Amino acid sequence: MRDNWVPISASKYSLFLKELHRKREESKSKEKIKSIKRQSLSKEERSLVLQKTDSRCHICGGEIEGIWEADHVLSHSKGGDHSIENYLPAHKICNNYRWDYLSEEFQEIMKLGIMLRTEIERETNLGNSVAEKFVKNEINRIKRRKKR
Ligand SMILES: [Zn+2]
Repeated sequence: MRDNWVPISASKYSLFLKELHRKREESKSKEKIKSIKRQSLSKEERSLVLQKTDSRCHICGGEIEGIWEADHVLSHSKGGDHSIENYLPAHKICNNYRWDYLSEEFQEIMKLGIMLRTEIERETNLGNSVAEKFVKNEINRIKRRKKR
């Protein structure tokens, strides 16, 4: 974690993100080698997992009403096993955005997201151009989903 280190320039920060990306790809390919077939939870087990957080998503803290996933907190390759202790409930959307990233990367993504959220709310030049691009991406994402 970079608690005590602050990137000194935009290009250093970009390098830092690239390095994290590389580490993620590396750990993913290691995980594939070790991967054990994922077992699915029974209805009873899923209901126990949901009770652990009082029906809240462990990623965003929001209430779970519709579709949710049992998030495998510790992967098999890191010693996680197939017991309900190793699962927490998460919205499908939160889990999809979260699962692929290293925790270090996810912290950066949250910091960036929060900073950009403020820029967009204040309608700064940066905020406006990010919002424009983001809206375009969202429209395309929804169009792609409908085609399937
Ligand atoms: Zn959530």
